[in-house]
Amino acid sequence: MRVYNFSSGPAMMPVEVLEQAAAELTDWRGSGMSVMEVSHRGHDFVECEREAEEKLRRVLGIPDDYAIVFCQGGATGQFHAVPMNLTRPGDLTSLVNTGQWSAKALRHAEQAGVRVEVVVDEKESGYTTIPAPGSFDAARGSAYLHYTPNETIGGVEFDYVPECGAPLVADLSSTILSRPLDVSRFGVIYAGTQKNMGPAGMAVVIVRRDLLGRARPETPDILDWTRMAEQDSMLNTPPTFSIYLLGLILDWVERLGGLTAMGERNRTKAETLYTYLDSSDFYSAPVGPGARSWMNVVFLLADRSLDKTFVAEATDAGLTNLAGHRSVGGMRASIYNAMPLDGVQALVDFMSEFERRHG
Ligand SMILES: *Cc1c(COP(=O)(O)O)cnc(C)c1O
Repeated sequence: MRVYNFSSGPAMMPVEVLEQAAAELTDWRGSGMSVMEVSHRGHDFVECEREAEEKLRRVLGIPDDYAIVFCQGGATGQFHAVPMNLTRPGDLTSLVNTGQWSAKALRHAEQAGVRVEVVVDEKESGYTTIPAPGSFDAARGSAYLHYTPNETIGGVEFDYVPECGAPLVADLSSTILSRPLDVSRFGVIYAGTQKNMGPAGMAVVIVRRDLLGRARPETPDILDWTRMAEQDSMLNTPPTFSIYLLGLILDWVERLGGLTAMGERNRTKAETLYTYLDSSDFYSAPVGPGARSWMNVVFLLADRSLDKTFVAEATDAGLTNLAGHRSVGGMRASIYNAMPLDGVQALVDFMSEFERRHG
């Protein structure tokens, strides 16, 4: 029996995708081997990677003047790759701090020797808010402005793309492919794959081509977007299974109707859960309307002493991984693309039943 897995990542994947992968695991495209066993330089895999890239370009509407690169090392690898590819030590960059992933990006950028000006910080609200459109811009002379469109831990999400005088760099790890996106507004988009794009360990990087060719000479080749793009992300053995699964997931997104349909589906899921939270005195949502993530719904029980019981009973009911991040406690339901509306409805039903018994 499949559970509804509310994990923040690695996250639930579409069952159709897992079934297809299982069905062709031992004999992929008539090779008599799994996709993990074929040569990454052989015709079949080169095609598979090219198709994954093409599908991503089509689904996200990525313009031709953007390169797509598949990097290993997850999103965290990109926290370093961004400053290495776009700055020299001592250069100025800007950052929007909306929570824990912003703070990590900040720390890693400083490690890479750039100066980071935090141009807006939502600290006062305890990182439960998003700055208003037009209320901030990159500091003068910044190489780029970095922001985190969806804070996976705090559960806040931008519902707009900031206007910005410097190239906009975005960590879209937990929201990519969840709704339509105007890629042309960005200088660089990067995202770890384990939320909406497959298994952990890989990052997809989408970079405007005029930003290539600027990497520091000491940048490791495997984090150098220019070298990676020149080599079609095959500078070394790429994560073949991850790239293959990304392709299957993109097929699934297209079958469901692409990002417009995905956005509608995700909006309905999120509204279902937030509407229920707002109607209850037993539960509450710390993030206010206007900043609420469609992907990571944080909520609290009025009686915190019931937290452990809630998680245990939910798990017994087949609703797993609902405990909030260890740093914040409470609950978090991550409802990425692969979570069906039925899963959210099952959670709401469980929650009202739990309230009836313990309220
Ligand atoms: C999950 C996540 C990361 C970290 O990804 P890794 O692949 O573990 O490095 C970074 N940023 C955001 C917003 C995330 O949700």
